[in-house]
Amino acid sequence: MSEVRCFIGLGSNLNNPVEQVRSALTELNDLPGIRVTRHSALYRSEPVGPAGQPDYINAVAELKTSLQPLELLDALQQLEQMHQRKRIQHWGPRTLDLDLLLYNNESINNERLKVPHPYMTQRNFVLRPLADLESDLTLPDGSKLMPYLADCPMGTLEQLPL
Ligand code: ADP
Ligand code: MG
Repeated sequence: MSEVRCFIGLGSNLNNPVEQVRSALTELNDLPGIRVTRHSALYRSEPVGPAGQPDYINAVAELKTSLQPLELLDALQQLEQMHQRKRIQHWGPRTLDLDLLLYNNESINNERLKVPHPYMTQRNFVLRPLADLESDLTLPDGSKLMPYLADCPMGTLEQLPL
């Protein structure tokens, strides 16, 4: 069984978001074919999308997985469902959002799955924690992570104390 390395973005802004993200990290590691090898600190970020939502709690996790990309997406979506995520509004509040940011330095572009995640190079709550884990990361197109971080407004992003 060969494993590849992936990065996952976690986010929550409902029902005790810190606990949602913490428990999701544990539950991810417990899924068959997935090991959480490292994760970032938790960050607090302002919501993207509809105004008036609570702040988000975000983190990035490094995984080793034997799952194929769509199998991994299935597993992530099942975990989102377990957290009773309700798809009421596009980019609206959610108890748990799990995004596949990077999969083994591959570019994937199909109906259900786009990797690298299309917005990852523009979102401070992805770039900052990802850079904490792997500052010299190279994306599948050969670009480096750090210049994206340098160009991205940090807004009110703050790292939570451990
Ligand atoms: P967002 O994360 O952009 O707020 P959603 O979590 O509601 O939006 O995602 C909607 C759809 O995005 C999912 O049904 C999934 O098939 C698709 N998708 C495409 N690429 C990815 C990816 N890299 N990670 C997670 N979902 C993705
Ligand atoms: Mg998502």
